[in-house]
Amino acid sequence: MDFREQRRRLVEKLIREGYIRSDRVAKAMLRVPRELFVPEELRHLAYEDTPLPIGHGQTISAPHMVALMTELADLRPGMRVLEVGTGSGYHAAVLAEVVAPSDEPREKWGKVYTIERIPELARRAVENLRRAGYLDRVKVVVGDGSKGYPEAAPYDRIVVTAAAPDIPPPLVEQLKPGGKMVIPLGTRYYQTLYVVEKTRDGKIKARPVTPCLFVPLIGEYGWSEDSY
Ligand code: SAM
Repeated sequence: MDFREQRRRLVEKLIREGYIRSDRVAKAMLRVPRELFVPEELRHLAYEDTPLPIGHGQTISAPHMVALMTELADLRPGMRVLEVGTGSGYHAAVLAEVVAPSDEPREKWGKVYTIERIPELARRAVENLRRAGYLDRVKVVVGDGSKGYPEAAPYDRIVVTAAAPDIPPPLVEQLKPGGKMVIPLGTRYYQTLYVVEKTRDGKIKARPVTPCLFVPLIGEYGWSEDSY
């Protein structure tokens, strides 16, 4: 079965299971070739609904988690998004396909900023995004994303793909009033996925959604590397 057909079947499964609920997210996940974001020797597993190792002890998240987080982010074309934890670059491409769809004119495109602390992963993500055709809508930055990326703030949405002990204050600051953040919060080994809303008057409302398990956010407002 070719990758396109495998992708179609995976998206149908995620719709049936309730992870994909909107046409926007379905279309985006049908368009982004996940096989270009996994290590070559694991390509045959690209459309299994499972996380896969990408080196440096990190993972590309399972497709159902990418679908769920993208739905919870409640994105629309034109939005500016910050992703913390680039990893392979796959989720950034899916976010980009929603806020800057390939079939919309560029004037209507939003932009995705994605930040990764491990330079080698960021370098590979740039390569993956280039091959998949998303570098025109995604900017990859190397740094400690627990501090956000103030250079391009404020953001309509922030998606954090590594687990934090608490909501990092700089991320709240860099969110627009009325903006939303999707973030796993908890201990290093067990977390809950939250949707955090910053109301128009600057208040914070956090809603727990589901249990989850992510690699830790390592940084000033996350965990320290040596306590890992
Ligand atoms: N979104 C990724 C994808 O589509 O492949 C998967 C992300 S992986 C589950 C989490 C990533 O967060 C890892 O690549 C890890 O190195 C990165 N990370 C952890 N702490 C970070 C921090 N403080 N700033 C930026 N990236 C961080």
